[in-house]
Amino acid sequence: MTTRFAPSPTGLLHLGHAYAALVAHRLAHQHHGTFLLRFEDIDHTRVRPEFYVAIEEDLRWLGLTWQGAPLHQTDRLPAYAAALEQLNATQVLYPCFCTRRDIAEETARITNAPHGPEGPLYPGTCRALSADQRAALLAADTPHCWRLDAAAASQRLGPLTFRDQRHGEIPVDPALLGDVILARKDIATSYHLAVVVDDAFQHISLVTRGEDLLPATHVHRLLQGLLALPEPTYHHHPLILDANGQRLAKRDESQTIRSLRASGLSPEETIRRATVA
Ligand code: GLU
Repeated sequence: MTTRFAPSPTGLLHLGHAYAALVAHRLAHQHHGTFLLRFEDIDHTRVRPEFYVAIEEDLRWLGLTWQGAPLHQTDRLPAYAAALEQLNATQVLYPCFCTRRDIAEETARITNAPHGPEGPLYPGTCRALSADQRAALLAADTPHCWRLDAAAASQRLGPLTFRDQRHGEIPVDPALLGDVILARKDIATSYHLAVVVDDAFQHISLVTRGEDLLPATHVHRLLQGLLALPEPTYHHHPLILDANGQRLAKRDESQTIRSLRASGLSPEETIRRATVA
């Protein structure tokens, strides 16, 4: 069995990340499995080089060692392009030319605009474009992203489920996150596409991550089905909350491993805090 910790090098690790890494590390060790590290670094607008080093240092200080060299998603762009091509060939994608403003206006205009767990979903405007309209916009080099046609994908695959160690067997709801972006305008991939392709590439058999990503797994299961990739088991763990019951924010510097370490906490104490917080 193989697990992974997949931080984005867009900031320092805080207690919440340490907990996520610990869960993956412990489950791998309990099963005499392998723990891998992956940098989810496709978002060049937010990644900073110094955070790769800082994250590796903090993990080592916590005693969490991984096998082999960490995977960098920026090295994997051709694999994501191939997966996107494969999806496009099965007609479950469409180009979306909407700006943020177009989406906000359309959402405000229509009654019953689709909503997901974290707010409004894409209202589907560009799904309705004709083949000719699409071709003309593409020929004119109109900036666009690529979206999953969730209904078409679901129709193709039929009912699906995924298995979570804490939550049991969960039926996939294709409409939960709507027509998500699989390739951004500025980056030819997205979190959803990259994570699915890489979990298969790294032979991850148990995906451990925070419960905030449970809705995303519905999309990931669809993508695994469409790309004929193996289906991992999931373990969505609770999130560490601060004293006010709020999720730890990346900007809360007092909870970074760096500052806890600087305040004199030992790795063991930090781990205890990450575990019981
Ligand atoms: N990069 C994500 C995070 O830092 C983790 C995504 C995942 O584990 O699938 O929260």
